[in-house]
Order: sequence, then structure tokens, then C-alpha cells
Amino acid sequence: MGDDAPGGGGSAASTGQAADSDTEGAAAPEGRAPPARVPRCFVFDLDNCCWTPEMYQMSSGFSYDGARNVCRSRRGGETVRLLGDVAHVWNTIRTDPAFGGAAIAVASCCDEPAWARELLALFEVSEGIKMQDCIAHTEIRFGNKQTHLRRISEVLKIPLEDMVFFDDQHGHCRNARALGVVSVQVPHGGVTRAAFKQILDEFAQSEPGRARAARAETT
Ligand SMILES: [Mg+2]
Repeated sequence: MGDDAPGGGGSAASTGQAADSDTEGAAAPEGRAPPARVPRCFVFDLDNCCWTPEMYQMSSGFSYDGARNVCRSRRGGETVRLLGDVAHVWNTIRTDPAFGGAAIAVASCCDEPAWARELLALFEVSEGIKMQDCIAHTEIRFGNKQTHLRRISEVLKIPLEDMVFFDDQHGHCRNARALGVVSVQVPHGGVTRAAFKQILDEFAQSEPGRARAARAETT
């Protein structure tokens, strides 16, 4: 098993397919006045959300092609590439004053954590800036991602209601929402500018205190 199979139905926000045509509009948050509320932490799944293919489909460690910002399995030669606009989105969170130094965290069920960490140390979000340079905390473990999100919240001392979460799986997004974490499913094509805009809009429109309310409903 890898970091979950894609799909899952439900209320998927199918942002990937529309990414190209929506790029101009989706880039707007970087140029406009920031929304009233912005997340303090952006949490990302890895396999099939930030990159493809999933680690269970790979065979060994990786070499890095800096010219193309892709990684290649040393043994099998398979190429791993970033999906959607992941590099741009991460770099925007890192550098745009609108986000005020918001944290980036990883919540993954990847069954090859060492390979995932290797890729995070190779892929760049801008020249010379690796993904791992952007990350405040990484949780890679099996299980319900509520555990990942609670742990990230504890370690970074950021309330769940100030966090947002991307994942390709409907079930993981549903579980995150049950904690009051605004979540956007990216079932195809990874995290795009459109998905980024969507999660910012949903977060800005969400009510503080929803995390406590959501948890109360599920207990
Ligand atoms: Mg995934």
C-alpha cells in the first residue's frame, strides 16, 4: 500500500483539471490585499498530492536533475516529479508577506518515509531552496490523518482551527474536517494555484471556533 489510492468520490474539489485555465485568476491572492484571516499552518500530504508517482511504486533512492527539478530512482530509473503548482505554492507561503511566516507541515502515510525525506531534501521550490528548507514539521506514519494533524498542532503550538490541509484522498480530508481543519481534496493533478486559492477562500470564510464545534459533534 502507498499513500492511499487516488479518488474516493464524495465532494471532491477537482481543481487539478482546471489548473491551467484558472492560473491567472488563482494567482490573484499574491497580488491583492490578503483575506481577513489567513492560515497559520499549511499541511500537505505527499504522494499524489505534492508529487507522483507514489513511493510504493518506486524501487530505490534518488538522484536529482536540477535543470528539470525532477528526481530519478537510481535502481529503476523511474522519474518522480512535483505535481501541479506545488513549488510555486510552497514558495509563495514562504515568501509572501500576506502569510506572515505561516508554517508548512507534512502529513503523509507514505510507506517509505526515508525515500520521502530524501525527495524533500532534493526537490526545490525556488533556486537553491529545497522543500525541506520550508518545512516546520513532518509527520509520516500510517493511520488516520487526525493523528498527524493533532501532532503537528501540538509540536508547532498552532490550533487546529488555524491550519489548512491538502490531500488527494476524500477520506483523509473528511477526517481533517471533523477536527475543524479546512481541507481541500486534490484528487487529480496535485496542489494547484486554483486549489491554493480555494483553500484560502474557504479558510477566510470559516468561523473561528469551528474546530471545537466540529469535535463536539463527533464526540
Ligand atoms: Mg496521497
